[in-house]
Amino acid sequence: SAKRHGRNHHKRFQPALDEPGDRQLELVNDLRAALAHGDQLELHYQTQHSLKDGSLVGMEALMRWRHPRLGMVSPGDFIPLAERHGLMTPLGAWVIEQAASQLARWQQAGLPRVTVWVNISALQLIQGDLESRISACLARYKVPTRLLGLELTESVLLDERAGDVYPRMTSLRDKGHQIAIDDFGTGYSSLSYLKRLPVDKLKLDRAFVRALPDDQADAAIVGAVLAMAKGLSLTVVAEGVETPAQRDYLRKLGCPEVQGFLFSRPVTSGEVEAKLRQEATGVYSGDGAAVAS
Ligand code: C2E
Ligand code: MG
Ligand code: MG
Ligand code: MG
Repeated sequence: SAKRHGRNHHKRFQPALDEPGDRQLELVNDLRAALAHGDQLELHYQTQHSLKDGSLVGMEALMRWRHPRLGMVSPGDFIPLAERHGLMTPLGAWVIEQAASQLARWQQAGLPRVTVWVNISALQLIQGDLESRISACLARYKVPTRLLGLELTESVLLDERAGDVYPRMTSLRDKGHQIAIDDFGTGYSSLSYLKRLPVDKLKLDRAFVRALPDDQADAAIVGAVLAMAKGLSLTVVAEGVETPAQRDYLRKLGCPEVQGFLFSRPVTSGEVEAKLRQEATGVYSGDGAAVAS
């Protein structure tokens, strides 16, 4: 690579794509350009449903990157890269801006007001101005704070770079944001933080949902989480619900909300808008429709 050839090596070289270092740097540069132009990045939305009646109660915003050569790059690949190279804060700001402007358009169109949940990374949370950035953005679009939910993983809560997250979370929640613990149950944190932290919702990780209803250990864990959440007045959304059997079992256990491919994959804003319109007219379609049956 160029590094091995040293500073004085001026010959142009073709970076080999199988060299992880060069490939990553190339991707980082591409991501920087994508952020600057904004046209390769998209925010997709995955609906969340009540298990009482199947109604659409919220949606999670998930980032997508259409790379001109590589096609869709998964957020699982580009987000860690963005974190390492100082691009997470601008990426996160793009997500918030995008979600707020989308909420404003749906509001103007008179569509049902459902919370859009965005994922917040550790590095975003330590930026002292996250809260003021968000509120300035929501004020500009005249969107109520309550409609922008914030998802934080347990690892964010434990990330020492985030310092003491408690005052930041309290302040965000006092402003009116709903806060969810994402991928709940996969971190190594102690449960005592649930008593201390200002949180509204647990997102039960799909690892516990996958083998339901047959796996007795997972069934026991899910039942215990639901009971604990109830005792703490937290709501729960189960992630990764793919089959009617999983949905039915979760409903039997008293899980209030679900999210997963059974109901909808993450889709474009246009596609989720169609679902919002159906919701407004009380017409259901797709597998999620069977929820109340
Ligand atoms: P997450 O926040 O836990 O998001 C849920 C992931 O599970 C999404 O993957 C979603 O497509 C996937 N999923 C949903 N339902 C099902 C299902 O029924 N079965 C299966 N197998 N998967 C399902 P995605 O979109 O690839 O995102 C992966 C992760 O990347 C997210 O996990 C989140 O941690 C991160 N991410 C995505 N967008 C953002 C963002 O805007 N900001 C930050 N900081 N992180 C993001
Ligand atoms: Mg999430
Ligand atoms: Mg999750
Ligand atoms: Mg996850």
